[in-house]
Amino acid sequence: MPEGNEIHRWAERHTRAFVGRKMHVDSPTGRFADADALDGRKLEEVRAKGKHLGYVFGKDRVLHVHLGRYGDWTEGQMPLPEPKGALRLRMWPVGAKARTDAAKASVRHGWYSEDDGSNPVAPEDVDWLELRGPSDCSLWSDAKWAELLKRLGPDPLSNDGVEGDDPAPAFAEIAKSKMTIAQLLMEQDVIAGIGNIYRAELLYRARMSPFLEGREVPPAALKAMWKDAIPLMKAGMVDRRIVTTRSKDRPHSTGKPLKEEVHYVYRRAGKPCWVCGTKILKKDLAGRTLYWCPVCQGTDAS
Ligand SMILES: [Zn+2]
Repeated sequence: MPEGNEIHRWAERHTRAFVGRKMHVDSPTGRFADADALDGRKLEEVRAKGKHLGYVFGKDRVLHVHLGRYGDWTEGQMPLPEPKGALRLRMWPVGAKARTDAAKASVRHGWYSEDDGSNPVAPEDVDWLELRGPSDCSLWSDAKWAELLKRLGPDPLSNDGVEGDDPAPAFAEIAKSKMTIAQLLMEQDVIAGIGNIYRAELLYRARMSPFLEGREVPPAALKAMWKDAIPLMKAGMVDRRIVTTRSKDRPHSTGKPLKEEVHYVYRRAGKPCWVCGTKILKKDLAGRTLYWCPVCQGTDAS
C-alpha cells in the first residue's frame, strides 16, 4: 500500500505536469460518474495530505483519490492508449498532441519496496494519467475536503516535507493512549501518511518496542521519531524506493543498497537482524503484519 511518501510524490509530479492547464477527464468504464463535471476545466492545484490526494478543478470540484491497497497511477506520453482493464479515470491536457518521438508509458509498479524507481518520463513530459484500483475516486466539495483535513493527524510531509505539520496534536493523542505505539503510528487520525513499512522501520530505528502503550512512550523518544520520519519519508519521495537502513548497518556498506538490504525489519521475518543477528519476528496486529527485532527493540525481556 502506498504510504505518504508515494502520495506526496504523485502530487508533486502531477503539479509539475498539469497544474494551470485545462484537462480532459473521462472514465471509460463509467465507474467515475462525475467525470463530466471536471472535463475541460483547469486543474488549479494538486493537494496531498497523508494518504489522500485532491485534484482541484475549481470551487467544490475536488477530485478526491485514495489509492488504498491496490490503486496506482500510470503515466505516459501521447498518443493515449486504448482503454484497458479496470480503468477508473484518465486525464490529459486539452489540445495535447501525439508526440513524434516514441511513446514511453511508465509501467505500473506492483511492489513499492522492490521498485528501483526508474521512471523514464520526467514530470514535464507526462501527457496523460490513468488511474486503476483506487479505494476512492470521487468528486468532493470544498467542505468535504476541509472535514478530511480536520480529521487527519499531522503529516510529516506537509509543507513540502521541510518540516511537516505541527506534531503537537499527535504527541498529545499518543501521550494519553493505551493503544500500542505500533497501532497508533498507523492511525491516520493520529499521524497522517505513515503505513506499514514506515511504522516498522521507524520503530526499529528508534529501538522502541512496538508494544509500548502510547502513554508509556517517553516524549523525547516520540519527538525524535517524528524528526526521523520527515527526512526518511522525504527520501522515499525521490524514486518510490523506501530505504530505511543506514549504510553502516548494511552488509554492503558502500554503494547503492541491495534490494534485500533496504529495510531493517519490514518483510524480513525469520532473517537475521542486520545489527544483532537475531531473527526478526512478525505478528498480526490489527489486521496488518508487524515486524520487529526482539533484541534491538527490547521485547525479549517482557
Ligand atoms: Zn536486532
